[in-house]
Amino acid sequence: MNPAAFARTQEIAARASTHRAFRWLHLQEQRIQTWQREAVSIPAPPFGEHDRASWFADRFREIGLCGVHLDEEGNALGWLRAPQAGEPVVLLSAHLDTVFSAAVQIAPVQDGSLLRAPGAADNGAGLAALLALAAVSAAEPEAYTANVLFAANVGEEAEGNLRGMRHIFERSAVARDVVASIALEGAGTETLVTRGLGSRRFRVVLNGPGGHAWTEPEIANPVMVLAGALARCVAEPIPQHPRTVFNVGCLEGGSSVTSIPEQATALVDIRSVSADELVRLEVLLYRSVEDAVLASNAQASRGVLTFRIECIGDRPAGALDPQSPVLASVRAVDRHLRLRTEERIGSTDANLPLAQGRDAVAMGAGGTAGGIHTLKEWYDSTGRELALRRILLVLLDVSSAEYLQALPATGRVRGATRS
Ligand SMILES: [Zn+2]
Repeated sequence: MNPAAFARTQEIAARASTHRAFRWLHLQEQRIQTWQREAVSIPAPPFGEHDRASWFADRFREIGLCGVHLDEEGNALGWLRAPQAGEPVVLLSAHLDTVFSAAVQIAPVQDGSLLRAPGAADNGAGLAALLALAAVSAAEPEAYTANVLFAANVGEEAEGNLRGMRHIFERSAVARDVVASIALEGAGTETLVTRGLGSRRFRVVLNGPGGHAWTEPEIANPVMVLAGALARCVAEPIPQHPRTVFNVGCLEGGSSVTSIPEQATALVDIRSVSADELVRLEVLLYRSVEDAVLASNAQASRGVLTFRIECIGDRPAGALDPQSPVLASVRAVDRHLRLRTEERIGSTDANLPLAQGRDAVAMGAGGTAGGIHTLKEWYDSTGRELALRRILLVLLDVSSAEYLQALPATGRVRGATRS
């Protein structure tokens, strides 16, 4: 426990403005539920988040945020105060996208505190919390020394590859000024994602002339060559620590048992909490495939094999420094609220800033949920208020003058120089 962080939390929790915010969160649960239901009812498939983002921009304006707009990537952004170049910024975000295609019917059903809909929790819960936090912050902007950027961002799920976060942290004007970022993700009151599980996904395709297996045995067989290359990868040791997985999720090619196929395809998923392991296994995959194809072509007397490897998924790995000021802040708040900080590894929007060495976490947005990523997804907002208080106290702390003064001198540029 960091005594300075705990002292700041105690002071913040005792402020009259904090009590007013807590009261608003207590009294406005119905409004928060309505926001959540409305947001969830607007389809937001990967690369199809525009309608939900526009709805969000309207809510941001209603709440009274400044500079509300959709950026080039499609993120809905709003500021606590009109932004000034070079000022410290805290990012509070929640992803807009769902895993469901535009064809999936979303008809949310509310039954008391229970909301049933695809995406009700992931990330309906995070989006509802984002609006609630934006509303209480906009009512008392003087409680924050840092400016706060509220973002309902695109591209968190699968093929989105964190494109919303990537835009904010790699290409936006504000990238180098973000001192802390908090992604609101799904349900849960005590959850805190401090390590980002990285993944690189590939489609490997081998092509050849194909032929008759008995009369043309000299022709190279892409299925057998690919299988040999993958076997070489799998024979390589994969570490338990840092936890790493190499998976061939799909292997296909050919159409008849007596033919030499013309094509073979494999889908490969490499995941690790270590960025170094991701790179090592990616290199292993490339080398194994290339070596196997070259060896086959050196032997084959007729027709050569060609190969290509496409990256079909990319999320960087990263972990929060155990000495991170954001982590100290969450721990202090959790102690104040008598919560047990549940540190987790996850694949969230926090991966991107974590991979840049920044102070970033993902926090649960309260309540409970089940059936995530299925049509039976549900969310129960019972007890949400406690999680919203937790997020608010952390947000107030990491935006406070005392917190900003205590940041290491290099803290602001650490991420920016590596990005
Ligand atoms: Zn999510």
